[in-house]
Amino acid sequence: MKKLGFGLMRLPLTNEEDQTSINQELLNQMVDYFLAQGFTYFDTAYRYHKGLSELATRKALVERHPRESYQLADKMPTFFVTKHEDYERFFNEQLEKCGVSYFDYYLLHTLGVKNYANTLEHGGFEFIDKMKKEGKIRHAGFSFHDKAEVLDRILTEHPEMEFVQLQINYIDWEHETIESRKCYELAVKHQKPIIVMEPVKGGALANVPEEAEKLFKAYHPEMSVASWAVRFAASLDHVFMVLSGMSDLEQMVDNISYMQDIVPLNEDEKAIIDQAAQIINSSIAIPCTACGYCVEGCPQKIAIPDYFALYNNVKRFRLVPAHRTYYSNFIENYGKAGDCIGCKQCEEHCPQHLKIVENLQEVSRIFDR
Ligand code: SF4
Ligand code: SF4
Repeated sequence: MKKLGFGLMRLPLTNEEDQTSINQELLNQMVDYFLAQGFTYFDTAYRYHKGLSELATRKALVERHPRESYQLADKMPTFFVTKHEDYERFFNEQLEKCGVSYFDYYLLHTLGVKNYANTLEHGGFEFIDKMKKEGKIRHAGFSFHDKAEVLDRILTEHPEMEFVQLQINYIDWEHETIESRKCYELAVKHQKPIIVMEPVKGGALANVPEEAEKLFKAYHPEMSVASWAVRFAASLDHVFMVLSGMSDLEQMVDNISYMQDIVPLNEDEKAIIDQAAQIINSSIAIPCTACGYCVEGCPQKIAIPDYFALYNNVKRFRLVPAHRTYYSNFIENYGKAGDCIGCKQCEEHCPQHLKIVENLQEVSRIFDR
């Protein structure tokens, strides 16, 4: 199996502000191209695109290609489970939405202290085991967003999990909260193969400060900035899959160009990445990946990731009138940053452990004047 997986969480859209406006025709073309190039791994989840990613996957992939020609991964929304029966209900709904009778890879989505406790309480591991025995899951694992010590606990208590999906990229490798390197090393210690998510950190590592870009381009003028991030993850020995959330054919062609025959990073390239990481770390004001998990429960309907992206842009470059225009468009339909009531629902859901309330105050200081 080739090491690049199609992450179906940032699908092409017909209207960039509407997550449900999936461009099915373009997605079909991308799926066909991906398969034609020999890549076979597809990764969806219950919550991607407000529940529409699974349906779009069915139309683009399942209804148009033989089942044995690809591997499909899906994820149990552990954060929505409130009783044991929910597992079966969600799982059956997923099989139906995807139009399949089994998943090649199935994950408990976003385990960390909270979702792990919830999964233990409601018998999530027992349910997964049952589905494996019934042949509806080929390989079971979980995606993870928490400190390394929590990963160690889960893998110790649940050695039956066959793989883990970790957030690994060169910016988070030594990050004090995300602990990519420590998590990687723990997975290796527990002999679990690793799937990497967010290698380009939600696109942030495709758009780095000019100083870092110059370093990359000086060494490989012909290669994209994003390629350094994807190759960083793919070069790790115990990684068997790197997911990339591709939104257009251009990104896919680029990814495939260096993932077709992976050349691991050499020592010079590793040193360049270290230098670039230092530059980038000192420039990203709010390291939000735009996953959107914080938005669903916000009582004030605040467009948190969009405001953070605007804020980062202002910090990296400078405030220009276009920023205010974007912001005023957003607040037509969403709450203002200053509407935040500090309930912190959002912070509980943020895999990056961002201080959302504090950051929104900063955003408000700039935009709500
Ligand atoms: S703390 Fe603010 S942004 Fe977060 S959920 Fe509550 S109101 Fe929304
Ligand atoms: S603030 Fe956190 S949860 Fe919200 S989009 Fe950014 S990274 Fe995701």
